[in-house]
Amino acid sequence: MFPSVAISRRGDDRIRNGHPWIYRSDVTRADAEAGAMVRVLDSRGRTAGYALYSDRSEISLRMFTRGPDAPTEATWRERLEGAIGFRKTLEIEGAAFRLVHGEADLLPSLVVDRYGDWLVLQALSQGMDRMLPQITNQLVELVAPTGILGRNDPRVRGLEGLETRVDVLYGSVPESIDVQEGTVSYSVDPYHGQKTGLFLDQRENRVAAARYARGRLLDAFSYNGGFALSLAPRCDEVLAVDISEAAVQQIRRNAERNGLGAVVHARAMNVFDELRELERRGERFDTIVLDPPAFAKNKAAVAKALSGYKEINLRALKLLVPGGFLITCSCSYNVSEGAFAEVLAQAALDARADIAVVEKRMQARDHPVLLTVPETYYLKCFILRKLA
Ligand code: SAH
Repeated sequence: MFPSVAISRRGDDRIRNGHPWIYRSDVTRADAEAGAMVRVLDSRGRTAGYALYSDRSEISLRMFTRGPDAPTEATWRERLEGAIGFRKTLEIEGAAFRLVHGEADLLPSLVVDRYGDWLVLQALSQGMDRMLPQITNQLVELVAPTGILGRNDPRVRGLEGLETRVDVLYGSVPESIDVQEGTVSYSVDPYHGQKTGLFLDQRENRVAAARYARGRLLDAFSYNGGFALSLAPRCDEVLAVDISEAAVQQIRRNAERNGLGAVVHARAMNVFDELRELERRGERFDTIVLDPPAFAKNKAAVAKALSGYKEINLRALKLLVPGGFLITCSCSYNVSEGAFAEVLAQAALDARADIAVVEKRMQARDHPVLLTVPETYYLKCFILRKLA
């Protein structure tokens, strides 16, 4: 009933080591249509499990189940139910959070985010794309949302030969959704905002950072003001910087709606230039947040990414007063926590600063990490204190 795909011994090893991806180079025979659910035959011809097949991506197979039993509609439902049920236990303080986080919920390449009464989802492989009608129906039954938006415009869909499109998959979805997250109220644009509208993975880091924030705050790479607005009530003055003019407009609007318009100043600038300029002018900050985009989008870009991280962290440490806090992040999955820590140590040495690590953090709990898949630990966040 299921088409089959055969894999090499190296493919066997990957499955045995708990990794759900099998690369094209480890596929020895594929007899399946694009996006099909396939039976995976190991190098000895036994059924290793079932997987979503892609005829375009370097990742040919994304394992869905292991062992001889074929998945059914009930398997999908259990996975979705499990993911959604887990979020209920987290007691998240906010109306926006991630319900399904792909591989870490055993639903490879599927993202489902909740924004109040609406869901925004992304299917990032051929197989998941094919499952969208069924997934949509099951989400309607499980969550009863007012509407579901397919934000299927990330560029990675191109690697799968999938078109990019944004369309309402169920009900209706407004142009802007008001959501509360912790102390901050946002107006979110689910159709055009970055990711699905908000950087939900930083929610808990914003709360953590607020515990240290004070005095004069610089929020660099601010997007629509996530850190700036969460930390502002504890600060005297906030400068938020993002290169995107649209993001800066959103920061201003969000600052107004939270009664922080007088405290938060937003500037559309390249952070690299702005940090240099602030240093030249001899400005000082008590709290700094660095939350850049992923500088290393692939392995080849790692070296350049590390020098980018080093530069901004070095400059930030110089701008920080003794006793001040730096909240610094990397969301490059190709840069490990160890490599990032090494960069921070080098930046501290070059800045001639004594720096203590106060907290080591990661993406929020609704974006869990699959222990055997290092790629899923993508967001690293260090809270540092400058001693002298
Ligand atoms: N801190 C935000 C998320 C930041 S995402 C939050 O908590 O929600 C990274 C942001 O960096 C994006 O908004 C992007 O527009 C911005 N960006 C990318 N390169 C930049 C640069 N060189 N200078 C300033 N901003 C940049």
